[in-house]
Amino acid sequence: MSVLVFAENSQGIFKKPTFEAASYGYDLAQALGTDVCAVSVGMVDQNELAKLGTYGVSRVFSVSNEQLNSFANAAYASAIHKVSKQIEASVIVLSETYNGRAIAPRVAVKSKASVMPGLMSLVDTANHFQAQRLSYSGKGVQSLQASGDKLLITVRKNGYKIDENPVEVTIEEVSYSPDFNSLNALAKEIVKASDGISLTEADNVVSAGRGMKGPENWGMIEELANLIGAATACSKPTADMGWRPHHEHVGQTGIQISPNLYIAIGISGAIQHLAGVSSSKNIVVINKDPEAPFFKIADFGVVGDLFDVVPQLINEIKSIKAEG
Ligand code: FAD
Repeated sequence: MSVLVFAENSQGIFKKPTFEAASYGYDLAQALGTDVCAVSVGMVDQNELAKLGTYGVSRVFSVSNEQLNSFANAAYASAIHKVSKQIEASVIVLSETYNGRAIAPRVAVKSKASVMPGLMSLVDTANHFQAQRLSYSGKGVQSLQASGDKLLITVRKNGYKIDENPVEVTIEEVSYSPDFNSLNALAKEIVKASDGISLTEADNVVSAGRGMKGPENWGMIEELANLIGAATACSKPTADMGWRPHHEHVGQTGIQISPNLYIAIGISGAIQHLAGVSSSKNIVVINKDPEAPFFKIADFGVVGDLFDVVPQLINEIKSIKAEG
């Protein structure tokens, strides 16, 4: 029995969601009294693979085929399944990234595993693999119970703590080459939408809505975000009106995020917006309307005109930084 984590890379580099999945896998393996292994697909160098040892992974299986540098759903699922079978993994853990979501159902079907998607806490191993996850766009909590003897878990991005548990790591090459002609879809090129901090991986997010009055006022949002190392986000209408790019739109129909800090500026807090941000750990709301629904879930709130409050906040952060 062992736990297998899919270590997803981005152009040969492991990012935060992979370390979250590894930390989750390690904690689960500890609870089950077993080891955590990882499978990496595509070309990743030995130093990068060895980083997984910092997060408790003792064996890394590297499917280093250059053709697999491009994401191919079916091929990745087959590669993961191959390793999972080889080590008789009882639990497979993936991050709930776009790729993770695409691969998970295929791996689950191949492995005949129960699926627990989008977890933010450790599955209860003492209690027949029970777990809880957010449902109804974050308005409810769903209790899950695994059946069968195999389980596949996806971990929500920014949803699980990253812990360092350094162990000695061994790296093993796995030979696998899919028949690319038989694959339905193959990613040919990836073009980054922005050079900024990735919204789904950001610890801090500064978000703004229709209260901004127009796109010409967004300079202060970007300045505030730069000052605190945050990604920028927006409400749906502001993206629909072309004030902001669509990839910044958060909510039920946009991206769902769980940052450590979410600052909502001039956003009313409609239920569809909250669906994408309510699992943020700290929510700060700036709105001139004291009745704005967002204040109901805010940890800190400022009732005031954003055109007064945000510049004051920026100045305050600048002077704190200047004092070191
Ligand atoms: P508004 O509701 O217009 O709110 C603007 C806020 O700014 C107000 O609270 C106002 O008091 C405040 N304000 C104005 N001026 C100032 C000032 N000078 N200083 C301080 N505060 C000020 N929305 C999303 O965001 N994401 C989604 O994914 C999403 N999905 C949807 C799906 C469906 C099916 C539907 C029907 C709607 C969806 N919506 C979504 C839209 C959602 O219902 C709201 O209409 C939207 O979130 C409102 O955006 P807003 O808060 O920017 O604008």
